[in-house]
Amino acid sequence: MSGVVAGIDLGGTGSRFVIYGRDGVIASAAVATAALGAGGEQQTMSRLVDMVRGLVPGGRALLRVGIGASGPVDCAAGVIHNRETLPMFSGFPLVAALQKCWAVYVIIENDAVTAAIAEQRLGAGRDARHMLMVTLGTGIGAAFLVNGAPFLGPRGEHPEAGHIPIITGAESCYCGAKGCWEQVASRSALQAMLRPHLPPDTEDRDLLTSAAASVEDPLIRKVFESYGQLVGRGLSVLHSLYRPEVTIIGGSAANYFPLFMNGIQQALTRHTAFVVDTAIRSAVLGDNAGAIGAALIAHESIISASSRGVAKT
Ligand SMILES: [Zn+2]
Repeated sequence: MSGVVAGIDLGGTGSRFVIYGRDGVIASAAVATAALGAGGEQQTMSRLVDMVRGLVPGGRALLRVGIGASGPVDCAAGVIHNRETLPMFSGFPLVAALQKCWAVYVIIENDAVTAAIAEQRLGAGRDARHMLMVTLGTGIGAAFLVNGAPFLGPRGEHPEAGHIPIITGAESCYCGAKGCWEQVASRSALQAMLRPHLPPDTEDRDLLTSAAASVEDPLIRKVFESYGQLVGRGLSVLHSLYRPEVTIIGGSAANYFPLFMNGIQQALTRHTAFVVDTAIRSAVLGDNAGAIGAALIAHESIISASSRGVAKT
């Protein structure tokens, strides 16, 4: 690769950018998604365009851009349909508009898929043929890779595993169902569970680190365990369906994986014949995994275009 590719991860709370070249990640940046999407459509687009242009080193050509976004995403049309967590990027042909601005091919994927691709190519899933990736962030994303390729619906739709109903008696989720997995087991849900046990002036962004520092407190330890049980209930469904050999826990809650792993194991306990033999691991690529994966799919799209005899962009 003589030039570079860019990867963007549009998350519900934070967004990440990486520039990826022959030597791996050569530049990166993080920005609050609300700041990125403030104002109108045009301002949002300009910020995205300038952010990438500002990160590309002088003398290196931008070849392609990959985007990972929390779903639903219509990858074929290049349109995000997530008015709940990404309203400023939803409902208009984002990919077509960005292609025009950068004058390069832009590819979009679900953010759980881009994180999974990164971990499978470079991280905790390098030996995995059947790999489940679950991201515990503002919501919950899930991707299932078979031999490195994502499982998709007949029109390229992604699984929306965050919306598997796993509890009764819950309020309605924005998807229209009740008791969805992400309502009770996302990082946001963990923060809400911990808040009553921490000093009232604790900022949202400090909740998890404060709680982790107080894990000797039996009440805090119990919250992490209960949270793990809720994560495990959803995993139990996905394991029964897909039987992955490796399960990777990503998203920002994964930084605290050792504190809720016991709860996960409790929820997965079954008679021996029904236990799914899957290695559960924490993601290793950190907060940039989704953006790195987005850059990798852009890079791989260059390779596949070359192998089909299509000229490089
Ligand atoms: Zn839902």
